[in-house]
Amino acid sequence: MSDPNNWQQCLQHSIRDPQRLIEQLELPADYIEQVLLQPQFPLLVPPAYLAKIKKGDPNDPLLRQILALKQETIPSEGFSSDPVGDNAAQKCQGILHKYQGRVLLLVTAACAIHCRYCFRQHFEYHAPNNDDVFEYIQSDTGIHEVILSGGDPLLLSDQRLSTLLHKLQKIEHIKRVRIHSRVPIVLPQRMTADLMALLRSSQLHIVFVIHANHPNEIDTEVGAVLQQLVRQGIMVLNQTVLLKQVNDNPEILIQLSEKLFQYQVLPYYLHLLDKVQGAAHFEVSEHAALRLLDVLRCRLLGYLVPKLVKEVAGLPYKQPLL
Ligand SMILES: *Cc1c(COP(=O)(O)O)cnc(C)c1O
Ligand code: SF4
Repeated sequence: MSDPNNWQQCLQHSIRDPQRLIEQLELPADYIEQVLLQPQFPLLVPPAYLAKIKKGDPNDPLLRQILALKQETIPSEGFSSDPVGDNAAQKCQGILHKYQGRVLLLVTAACAIHCRYCFRQHFEYHAPNNDDVFEYIQSDTGIHEVILSGGDPLLLSDQRLSTLLHKLQKIEHIKRVRIHSRVPIVLPQRMTADLMALLRSSQLHIVFVIHANHPNEIDTEVGAVLQQLVRQGIMVLNQTVLLKQVNDNPEILIQLSEKLFQYQVLPYYLHLLDKVQGAAHFEVSEHAALRLLDVLRCRLLGYLVPKLVKEVAGLPYKQPLL
């Protein structure tokens, strides 16, 4: 018998076969003609996410984020395998240092879900050498924040996370750890009482940035997890990627901000798509993005309006559009 609360088992029960996904979601039989059956970046959908996708609807905004379409194979001008200059920013294996004061640590290649728009889907991940990583952080006293990323850092075991936090805590100039993760949204079972206790007990100031793109991703179970994080004294922010036919609609973005705030989560960034090969069908123009932002500003409380940004390789911060 499998335990629906055991997160490793939930992951094992993820769907990896597009054919099976189509059957389970009762999509029209001829829809398969548009689907890429063996994408290079494989399909991966955990059960909790699958359950939120509406059956029989090929246009479901959550389905669109995870199902590979043949459109992905069409080459598109300006779309590349390393759109934000990650390769150039890799200072040693596993460390991306682009911006002053903070470094990004790629702690694992694994994710709980595969998002079709992921800008790191072609990234050649090599497991970092821990000695090099800690030496790098230790030697630059200008670094005050370490951002755990990947992949998804919450796929590390509690043991490995705990070791990591302890090692970072010993470095005097590190004040904060930021955890960028889609796990609270797509695999809420991972957010166990043990994990909450581990986070609460850390002496580092912990900030969470979750990645939700659509209000349908946040049900009461996810909401409860978000509130628990907040109750541990953790600041929780959200970032969203602006995606065509997923959330490029002011009503959806307004609902998303309102729903996040219902669980005490503040919107942080609304990102333009990073132009990664295979994701051109998600692109929203800058002009359309600015029009959306204007509606959000009219309709939302100021603190519920995310910052509209794009990442430009080589520039010292994420570029605001307006
Ligand atoms: C996005 C990003 C950060 C974080 O930037 P903030 O603007 O502080 O959220 C840090 N390092 C890298 C390499 C990034 O891509
Ligand atoms: S969870 Fe994040 S890193 Fe993983 S596939 Fe999705 S966007 Fe990429």
